[in-house]
Amino acid sequence: MESILKMYIDGKWTASSSGEFRQVINPANGEVIAVVTEGTAEDVKKAVAAAKRAFYEDGWWDTPAVERARLLFKLADRLEEQAEEFAELEVKDNGKPYREATVDVADAVACFRYYAGLATKPHGQTYEVADPMQSVVVREPIGVCGQIIPWNYPLLMAAWKLAPALAAGNTVVFKPSEITPLSAIKLFEIIEEVGFPPGVANLVLGEGKTVGHEIAVNHDIDKVAFTGGTATGRSIMQAASGNLKKISLELGGKSPNIVFADADFETALDYALFAIFVNQGQVCSAGSRLLLEESIHDEFVEKLVERAKKIKVGPGNDPDTEMGPLISEAHMNKVLNYIKIGQEEGAKLVCGGKRITENGLEKGYFVEPTIFIDTKPDMRIVQEEIFGPVLVVQKFKDEAEAIRLANDTVYGLAGAVFTQDGAKAQRVVRKLRAGITWINTYHPTYNEAPWGGYKQSGIGRELGTFGYEEYTEVKQINTNLQVEPTGWYKG
Ligand code: NAD
Repeated sequence: MESILKMYIDGKWTASSSGEFRQVINPANGEVIAVVTEGTAEDVKKAVAAAKRAFYEDGWWDTPAVERARLLFKLADRLEEQAEEFAELEVKDNGKPYREATVDVADAVACFRYYAGLATKPHGQTYEVADPMQSVVVREPIGVCGQIIPWNYPLLMAAWKLAPALAAGNTVVFKPSEITPLSAIKLFEIIEEVGFPPGVANLVLGEGKTVGHEIAVNHDIDKVAFTGGTATGRSIMQAASGNLKKISLELGGKSPNIVFADADFETALDYALFAIFVNQGQVCSAGSRLLLEESIHDEFVEKLVERAKKIKVGPGNDPDTEMGPLISEAHMNKVLNYIKIGQEEGAKLVCGGKRITENGLEKGYFVEPTIFIDTKPDMRIVQEEIFGPVLVVQKFKDEAEAIRLANDTVYGLAGAVFTQDGAKAQRVVRKLRAGITWINTYHPTYNEAPWGGYKQSGIGRELGTFGYEEYTEVKQINTNLQVEPTGWYKG
């Protein structure tokens, strides 16, 4: 079939070895928007062989940094020129509101530019060691990198993976989520067009348990970088142990957003909504637990519910839409089930809680902005990642209790504190066991700063120089500056 979208392996657009294909669905109305080829483990093996050849034999390893930078800058320019098409595609495939999709595209462009620039900056170190030696540390690409991403930010997550890996001189085998492959396919059209050599960047489409698993176990892959759920991360870590490949994992979260009574009320309110409802709550760093100081709890909840009820839910391509549909029917059912669990556990539902089945939204996977209060720390809705528009509110008496509750999950991705007391803000943030923290704001993310989690939220960091270093090996080179026999053995 002509219309089946293909994978990009070794510089060629390729159909799956199995001949299978998959329908891609628009979550706003359940309609089929594309048909894509469904890759297999065999296809991964082909892509890995190409990536290995491109790295070791064809010379990508020796490509000067300035050339890698040139290609990445060109890629960023082409992406920027097509920003509107990418944003529209992301809305159709993922469901997010258009205004959010435009931010994703701009962030992806900036990410490619950041790493294009970083490629040519100094990366090594020199040490003064005992005479007559000199010790120099260089950073080198790891080799073939497998990269697996989720569906919540299809284009942006692709940029976070591809940009640092390619900038550092690796070759890649990249797998988008099977639910949202479209922007990745379009991005690889640009990769082809700007002239990355065959085999340097390969796109394999398909499921986690086949294609993703092969990426994790394949012995010719030197590193696997994964973003997705914590359970999947655990299985990837096990699968990667066969050849002890390097791993970096960006996993789930249940992040606390702490509001003290002395916070600027309206600012904290705005951000509390943004923290959980942006991208329909399908954000790894979502502020899904709102910790409120006792004295403001009731008034804050009242205003929060009032505002949450006004959030305009609809298809992402409607300019008035403030919140779109969830990614799929299966995911919607998972979120609705958590809402049921919350009610059964005895939490009080004060906002939303239902699928939206009116105003033309009945064919999509829309769920109302939902808020629970009167929660207890050991409830499943407080401990587990729901990954939808469901906020749980927790009440605290003082700073110590806020910190204790904030850290009381297996996750440690993000966290925020709202207060006008600068010293308190610093004290609390320093005590959060989380890799990404904010004071009087929620969610801003910068290409320059490291992204990643403590505890079961992950291993390693993306973005910034930290993210670049994750795609390098470190080598020490010791040089004798006085070349003469040592005389260590007398004979
Ligand atoms: P998921 O773990 O189900 O899937 C993520 C990717 O892994 C997909 O491409 C999938 O095909 C693949 N996969 C699934 N099973 C696999 C296996 N056994 N072996 C190899 N690959 C496999 O996650 P999802 O539902 O797509 O995304 C939601 C999750 O992603 C949430 O838990 C969220 O917190 C997390 N996430 C984390 C970050 C971060 O930076 N920490 C960012 C975005 C999303």
